Amino acid sequence: MEFGWTPEQKALRQKVAAFLDAHLPEDWESIASQSPGSPAVTEFSKQFCPKLAEAGLLASHWPEEFGGAGASAWDHFIVGEMLWEAGEPRGPQYYNVNWIGPAIMQYGTAEQQEQHLGRMLKGDVIWCQGFSEPSAGSDLAALRTRAEREGESYVVNGQKIWTSYARLAEFCFLLARTGAGKKEISVFLIPMDRKGITVRPIDSVVGDGDLHEVFLDDVEVLESERLGQEGLGWEVVRYALNFERVGIPRYALALRTLNRTVAELQGSASFGEGAQIAAASAHSACEAARILVYEAVGQRMKSSPDTGVASIARLSVVRAENQVADFVLDWTPQLFVGDEQPMVATHHKRAISAGIAGGAAEIQLNLIARNVLGLGA
Ligand SMILES: Cc1cc2nc3c(=O)[nH]c(=O)nc-3n(C[C@H](O)[C@H](O)[C@H](O)COP(=O)(O)OP(=O)(O)OC[C@H]3O[C@@H](n4cnc5c(N)ncnc54)[C@H](O)[C@@H]3O)c2cc1C
Repeated sequence: MEFGWTPEQKALRQKVAAFLDAHLPEDWESIASQSPGSPAVTEFSKQFCPKLAEAGLLASHWPEEFGGAGASAWDHFIVGEMLWEAGEPRGPQYYNVNWIGPAIMQYGTAEQQEQHLGRMLKGDVIWCQGFSEPSAGSDLAALRTRAEREGESYVVNGQKIWTSYARLAEFCFLLARTGAGKKEISVFLIPMDRKGITVRPIDSVVGDGDLHEVFLDDVEVLESERLGQEGLGWEVVRYALNFERVGIPRYALALRTLNRTVAELQGSASFGEGAQIAAASAHSACEAARILVYEAVGQRMKSSPDTGVASIARLSVVRAENQVADFVLDWTPQLFVGDEQPMVATHHKRAISAGIAGGAAEIQLNLIARNVLGLGA
C-alpha cells in the first residue's frame, strides 16, 4: 500500500490551495461556522461553485460526454478533501457532483440529463435528498410515502423528515413506494415548488436552516420525472450511494480544528502531559481515519470486491471527529465562548450529527460484524 501523491496530484493540490486563497473571503470562517444548510452557507456556495466550475475543479471527474473532463476520481477526492478541510464551501452542491449527477448519468433519460446535468456542472442549483421518514431512517425499506399511478403521472402522498437544505432546494431526489411489495420503491426528480409540497424547518443543535420536514399532499409527478424503471429504486439508490460509501472526509476539518486548538494551548500551563496525550490520541485517530478512507477510495477505484473497509473507514471518521470534539471541550472550553475561532467553537455540532447523518454509525457496526467478522445472519 502506498499513498504518495503523483507530481500531477501535487500540482492539483497547489491549484486548489491557490483557488481557496483567492476566493474565500475574510469572513469565511464565520460563514462556515453556521450550519451547512444555513442560508448564509447555501447562498455563499451559489457564488463560489460557479467559480470553482470555471476553474475546472467542480466536476472534472465527470465523463467528457456529460461535460466533465474525465479526470480521475482521485483528483475529485483530492479537491473534496481540501474543500472539507477549508469548511466545505461547496455547501449542498457536493450532493449534485458526487452522487445525484452520476445517478442521472447512469439511469436518466436524455431529457433528464439535458435538464439537470448542465446546471449541476455550473454549480448554481441546489438539491435535497428525500429519503428519511418519521418511521423509516435506518430501516429505509419501511418508508410509506406513496406514488400512485394515474395515467401518465403519479400522485404522491407522504412525509419526509430531517431533509437538509429543503427550504432552499430547487429539486428533490425523492424516494416513494410505487407497489405493494416492501422493495417496490422508485426514485423521482421533483421540483420543490410543485403544488402540494410544504416545507417546515426543524430547530436542532445542527443550526438554522439545516433540517426540515417535507409534507407531500396530492403532489402530481410526471412519469418523465421518474429516474430509472418503476420499482427499481433500490438499484438506483445503491448505485448513487456507492459514490458516498466512504462518507465525507471529515477527518480533514477535524485535524485542522485540532491543530488550531493545540496552537491555542501551546505555551499555556494547561498544556501538560494529560492534554498532550489526548492531543496525540485525537491526531492519531484522524490520521488512521484518513488512511482507511484512502484505502476504501483506492479499492473502489479498482472496483475491488467489498472487503468491509468502507464501513470501517466511515466509522473511524465519525470516531475521529468526535475525539477532536471531546478534546476541544475538555481542554479549551474558552473557545466555545466568544467568536475568536468560530469554526472551532462549532466543531462539536458537526461531530454530534456526523454519526447520524448519511446513516447511523451503529449500522456500520452491523455491517462490519456481518461482512468482516462473518457474524449474524
Ligand atoms: C444533520 C443531519 C442531516 C440529515 N439529512 C438528511 C437528508 O438530507 N435527507 C434524508 O433523507 N435524511 C437525512 N438525515 C436523516 C438520517 O439519514 C437519519 O437520521 C439516519 O438514517 C438515522 O435514522 P433515524 O433518525 O430514523 O434513526 P433510527 O433509524 O430510528 O435509529 C435510532 C437509533 O437506533 C439505532 N439503530 C437503528 N436500527 C439499528 C440496528 N438495526 N442495529 C443497531 N442500531 C440500530 C441507530 O443507530 C440510532 O442510534 C439527516 C440526519 C442528520 C442528523
